[in-house]
Amino acid sequence: MNRAINFNAGPAALPLPALERAAHELVDFAGTGMSVMEHSHRGKDYEKVHNEALALVRELLAIPDSHTVLFLQGGASQQFAMVPMNLLARGRSADYVLTGAWGEKAFAEAQTVAALVGGSVRVAASTGEGDGKEKAYRRVPRAGEVKVDPYAAYVHLTSNETIHGVEFGVTPEGAFPDAGKIPIVCDMSSDFLWRKFDVARFGLAYAGAQKNVGPSGIVVVIARKDLIAAAPAGIPKIFQYKTHADNNSLYNTPPTFSVYMVRNVLDWLKSQGGLAWMEAENRKKAERLYGAIDAHADFFRCPVEKASRSVMNVVFRLPSEALEERFVAEAKKQNMIGLKGHRSVGGIRVSTYNAVSLAWIDTLVAFMNEFVRTA
Ligand SMILES: *Cc1c(COP(=O)(O)O)cnc(C)c1O
Repeated sequence: MNRAINFNAGPAALPLPALERAAHELVDFAGTGMSVMEHSHRGKDYEKVHNEALALVRELLAIPDSHTVLFLQGGASQQFAMVPMNLLARGRSADYVLTGAWGEKAFAEAQTVAALVGGSVRVAASTGEGDGKEKAYRRVPRAGEVKVDPYAAYVHLTSNETIHGVEFGVTPEGAFPDAGKIPIVCDMSSDFLWRKFDVARFGLAYAGAQKNVGPSGIVVVIARKDLIAAAPAGIPKIFQYKTHADNNSLYNTPPTFSVYMVRNVLDWLKSQGGLAWMEAENRKKAERLYGAIDAHADFFRCPVEKASRSVMNVVFRLPSEALEERFVAEAKKQNMIGLKGHRSVGGIRVSTYNAVSLAWIDTLVAFMNEFVRTA
């Protein structure tokens, strides 16, 4: 078997032991004579997997009783709409902090919902520079730069901007803003479970699974119970967080195989040493990659300010687009795939999610050093 060295941005690499476990159990799950996909979502065999996956999220993050964990569908994109539907009542306003393309999308969707419900949304801070195709994001806001409306229903952040490689909370200078008593809502799709975080500081956090915790088809939501209980009446049941919280994320048929895979991935994570181990690994990976970039600053150029550099999506440019194309093509010949930057920004992007090993990063770094030497 020749597994690719997979730096895809999402769907992304999954830990081999989690996949092998699925392969082993695929046609006969837990001695039941059928795959987990063929089980009723109301049966005890599936329910055990479902509850184990939910419990692993709680355990890994030490989630307090004040917060509930939900498995929903529709991806992070559906959360862009569901958040304002549930948290933005008529006459209220919500704040958005923009540090990249995903935050922009969340804001645009919130504008649509605000118009429907008679609320409003506002950009509390944006670090975007320039316009149109030239628009760049190079950092998170500095301390004091985010001016949160003291009456805001919530303030929305994107903890890691997957396309621009800008992440909150990696360095003290890049810390999450202080929102006081205003609930923070955070899109953590591309840096969920790269380490522990203080869940109590967040009103609601959501993450599409396909970046760091499993296959696509499932989005994990962690929400303060009192916040989602106070949602406005009149929104369709399926879009109310409360519906899913009241039904243990089994209101309608969940993506059972995706939940099963999340269980396998989180069980692997726990067995490796949990989030303390994972954070140490991820920091080492990022140090080695940025170290290689900075060691050849006349050749590789990372556009992101040091304090905001992402541990999960490392972006950089080469001296020309022709060299970038050659870089991607030659890496591919050495079994390394997924290195092309997002089409909207170009360049190179290395996604270094949890399942990307230190050994893979070392292989890439050796390739980068050799590329500079021979280019
Ligand atoms: C990938 C991604 C999304 C979109 O996720 P979907 O599951 O495709 O809806 C949203 N936000 C961030 C930060 C992402 O990385």
